[in-house]
Amino acid sequence: MKDKNTFYITTPIYYPSKEFHIGHCYTTVIADSLARFNRLKKKDVIFQTGTDEHGQKIEKIAKEQNKEPKEYVDKIVENTKELWNSLDISYDKFIRTTDEEHIKNVTKIFNKLYENGDIYKGNYEGLYCTPCESFFSKEELDENNKCPDCHREVSLVKEEAYFFRLSKYQDKLLQFYEEHPLFLEPLSRKNEMINNFIKPGLKDLCVSRTSFNWGIPVSFDKKHVIYVWIDALSNYLTSLNYPSEKEMFDKYWPCDIHLVGKEIVRFHAIIWPAILMSLGIELPKKVFGHGWLVINNEKISKSLGNYKSPKEYIDKYGKDAIRYFLLREIVLGKDGNFSEELLISRTNSDLVNNLGNLVNRTIVMANKYFDKEIKFSKNYNPVDQELILNTNDLFDKVNNFVNDLKINEALEEIFKLLDKCNKYIDKNEPWNLYKNNNLERLEDVLYIILENIKVVSILLEAFIPSTSLRLKKMINKNNVNIKDIKFDEESSYNDLNTYILFERIK
Ligand SMILES: [Zn+2]
Repeated sequence: MKDKNTFYITTPIYYPSKEFHIGHCYTTVIADSLARFNRLKKKDVIFQTGTDEHGQKIEKIAKEQNKEPKEYVDKIVENTKELWNSLDISYDKFIRTTDEEHIKNVTKIFNKLYENGDIYKGNYEGLYCTPCESFFSKEELDENNKCPDCHREVSLVKEEAYFFRLSKYQDKLLQFYEEHPLFLEPLSRKNEMINNFIKPGLKDLCVSRTSFNWGIPVSFDKKHVIYVWIDALSNYLTSLNYPSEKEMFDKYWPCDIHLVGKEIVRFHAIIWPAILMSLGIELPKKVFGHGWLVINNEKISKSLGNYKSPKEYIDKYGKDAIRYFLLREIVLGKDGNFSEELLISRTNSDLVNNLGNLVNRTIVMANKYFDKEIKFSKNYNPVDQELILNTNDLFDKVNNFVNDLKINEALEEIFKLLDKCNKYIDKNEPWNLYKNNNLERLEDVLYIILENIKVVSILLEAFIPSTSLRLKKMINKNNVNIKDIKFDEESSYNDLNTYILFERIK
């Protein structure tokens, strides 16, 4: 039985045929926030990301550049890790399908499926799209008889290949979906999988190739390399060192969430469950298919040249402005639009005007009006109590939204509280309390705001971690954590620091 205090979350392993774009950042930032939120709640978290490095396309690109495939992907992986660091991505494990452990475990998994009778040798003839590494039936092609995913030319390929008996799992998959209605979300994707793919009939899946070498060899038939599915999808198990060892697997499996883009939902909602069924392993708790990020309402596309490298955005606007925008602006599950105009407007309204303004004016006033510790008299006004009720409700509200994967609404709640704090200051007019020498009330008002900033700084650790850290330094509460996430009337504040949290972007 799985220890309930673990949380295992994965991004897809990305295909490093070229450098990653803001769409990859989007998926990874969401997964990072979910991982961080669960760590905040003291769960034992594994957050995994990585790269899917084999296949014909990478072999081809490397050759064009006179490089070995491994040499080619090594450079991209290095840049990727740098990119994730620059966005504060707190992954616990970065798996590469060229890792020795992965190769060893995939070989065992493939052999296990073969011994079960679920892999057999046959002949494959099909229309193949090289960039997508996918075979398609005639019916699946687009209106110009081209690849339905990337709309490029496909070619007829025939070769000896091993197949996985996907067709055998049709009824079991339907039954599984019936018994686990929340396995795949959003629900629209689930209906699409059942009605468009599973019910019309599943075809056996080609799982080896002989036309290229850059892959994991089939151990009992060396002219074949294992072709994408079993190599790539198995990463979620091989990172736990399955099947070589049981310890990590027993502790962290089943995975809590596979977060994937909608274009690969089918692989995670049909092929992956069937492989797991064949291995006799429990299925993941959830697959969530998020929408696509578009740029200025166009698909992110190298050929359109419509995007900059993520590094340029991060250097220009700062990592937390990017993280905040991706998490706050886009409804998880739907397509979302990324534009610098929207990013600027979101940063100025929420991070500069709301959060930045609140924190700055509170600290400036506290430092100006008091040169002693700020404490609370416990003489509550009705307006105080109303605000504090909101302070103390915040964690539960945010927690519920995050559990429902409504991260944008979780952030909206946090910023609603900040907005209330700003209004509370305007209503109480601390500058007039000072003028009228009502210092006791003035101290209480500032104390109440500082407590709210404390609570918010703790929660923001999950979403904009570097800002969270700076907030804690500003209010001189470096060690607060989840147990402090309520209004504490016994605390005190001194040695407050002023920083500029966010500069207004013009
Ligand atoms: Zn294609």
